[in-house]
This record gives sequence, C-alpha cells and structure tokens, in this order.
Amino acid sequence: MPVDPPSPPAGQRFQMLWDCPRCDTPKLLGLSHRNCPNCGAPQDPTTRYFPAEADKIAVEDHPFVGADKQCSGCEAPNAATAAFCVGCGASLEGAGPVVRRASQTEGEAGFAADSAKSALAEQRAAKQAARAEAPAPRNAFPRIPTVAAVFGLAICAGVAAMFAGMFWKQDAGVVVSGHSWSRSIAVEQLQTVTESAWRDAVPTDARGVSCMQEERSTKQVADGQDCQTVRHDNADGTFSEDEKCTTKYRDEPVYDQKCGYTVDRWRQTRVEKSGAESLEPAPVWPSVLLSGAGTSTVGSEREGARTEKYTVKFKEEGDAGRLLGCDVPEAQWQTLAEGTRWIAPVGVVSDSIDCTGLKAP
Ligand SMILES: [Zn+2]
Ligand SMILES: [Zn+2]
Repeated sequence: MPVDPPSPPAGQRFQMLWDCPRCDTPKLLGLSHRNCPNCGAPQDPTTRYFPAEADKIAVEDHPFVGADKQCSGCEAPNAATAAFCVGCGASLEGAGPVVRRASQTEGEAGFAADSAKSALAEQRAAKQAARAEAPAPRNAFPRIPTVAAVFGLAICAGVAAMFAGMFWKQDAGVVVSGHSWSRSIAVEQLQTVTESAWRDAVPTDARGVSCMQEERSTKQVADGQDCQTVRHDNADGTFSEDEKCTTKYRDEPVYDQKCGYTVDRWRQTRVEKSGAESLEPAPVWPSVLLSGAGTSTVGSEREGARTEKYTVKFKEEGDAGRLLGCDVPEAQWQTLAEGTRWIAPVGVVSDSIDCTGLKAP
C-alpha cells in the first residue's frame, strides 16, 4: 500500500530522552539509543520525555521518516521504514505508531521539568479522558437535585403569589367623596450659558469658541510580539522546537480639540401652579407674567411645558371603608359627581382603584 511521505517537522530537531528500566542509566537518547548501551535493554517508547535545556542534543544529518511503529510482539519502537522488528524480528505489518507526548509550551520560568514518570502519568490521564468522553449509562433522576428543585419552585410560587396579591383586584362599590386638580406651566428664560464640547459637536451659534488639545479616547496599537517556544514530539525519538507568537497591543491616546464657548439657551427658571380641592369653580391655567415675551433677547421669557392632573377621591362601601383615589382625564373627572355610587375594581391587598374599570351599579 503506498504511503504519503511524512512532512518534515518545522524547526530544529533534538533527541527525546529515556531512562533504562533495567540498569537505571538515565538520559539515554530516544533516536540514537534503541537499546541501553550499558545493559542492552530495549527502549520503551512510552517512557520518552523532553530533556532539560542543558541536556538538549541536536539531531544532525538524520532524515525524518515518520513516527516510529511499535512492535505488537515485544513493544520495541521501530523506524517507520522498518519492515521487521529490531527487537524480536516479527513483521511490522499493521503495527501502530508509538504514543506521542503532548506538546510543551515554554512558561515564564522555561519548560516544566519532564521525566519518564510524567510521560506515563500523561498517558493515564489521556486514557481516563477518552473513557469520560464515551457516553455514560443513563441514570435514574438524582434525588438531591430533585428536592432542591421542589424547594426552589415553592419559593418561586411564594414570590409570585406575593406579587399577584399586590395587583389582586375585586369589584367593589365606591362613592365619590371629593375632587382635586392641579395645573402647572413651566417658565423658561433665554440665558447666556457656558458649555464645552468636542470640536465636531460645537453648536453653530456658539460664541467665543476656544479649544485645547485633550485625550478623547484610546486606540489599540500593535506593539511587537509575544513569543514562546513550543516542543512537539515527532514520535521517532526526536522532538522539534518552533515559536508560537502572538501580537501584543498597547493603548495609544487619541487627541482631539475640546472647546469652551458661550451660547444662548432657553433654561427653565420657575413653574407657575394653580389647583383646588373641589370640582367647582372649573380648573384654570395659572396666570403667567412673562418678561420680554415674544422677543429673543437674553433675559426674555417664554412658556415651557404644561402639565395637568385631575384626581377623583372615592370611599369604599362596607366596614373597611377605605379612602381611594385615581387620576382620570378632565372630561371624565367633571362627570363623576360627588355622592354618586359606582362599581370599580379595587385592590384587595393594596389601597388602589382602577378607574378605567368604573361601571354604573
Ligand atoms: Zn540498561
Ligand atoms: Zn518486536
């Protein structure tokens, strides 16, 4: 079966290390020492580890041929190009690749120390993670969360009931017991005011505009790179180092012209009010004396917003006999004569009355 030639790993290649399990010789070379040079024990590829910086040995003039194959008979690692195991001579037809260490990224204090023990721990963790990803058997509903859910629902229902109570209304007989009204007119004066704004927001009628440079905002500017060395296991007894870089950014101020100026603007200076606690005489707007009315010179006045409010007071029939009130349009207010009887939705808990629901008894 034709196999695609492996793409060579990027960056400089170095030897992975392994420790002889038989004679304890440490730091044997992953690529060069397929057997312990001291006692002849075969290399166990699952115990390969990354060397400390001081123990790095560069791989020279050794072409990359792909990840090692692991002999299914004796577990010895074999070059990807080998047809028969160097350890036991068995055919490597169908042999899978050796286990590959997870890549290591350089931290603040360099690379974390590595060892055969770490390599084995990493493989155990990977196996556990693979098991956890497999679909778990279906469980009966867990008991404690159910209790918590019921309790939570009860609380929610209680809160909802409280809110409902606030708005709970029932029809009741009420008698009109009084009226009140109020009307107001705001008075504005044209004043010369001092304001400030960014250049592009200075109004066209501004006078005496004077601007100064100020920081308006900031923008992100690329500021070099943050690079870390990353080690990748090539699974042939070597690893490669390459750089992983991310662009750094810094905030740079953006300047603009901030301008001070004077401008003539209408400002509310007072409110004229009228009102009474009765239906008669009919409501009137307060009289407003404006100085310099009709002109647009500084100091002249004009009318601003008008507001009006018409309140009907009711006494609830029965023993409770609460005093309730609501605001209605003026036309309706005038028709609700004192002493007349009506049916209206009245708050059971709250002292409220809904005048949109007023009905003749
Ligand atoms: Zn040995
Ligand atoms: Zn073998």
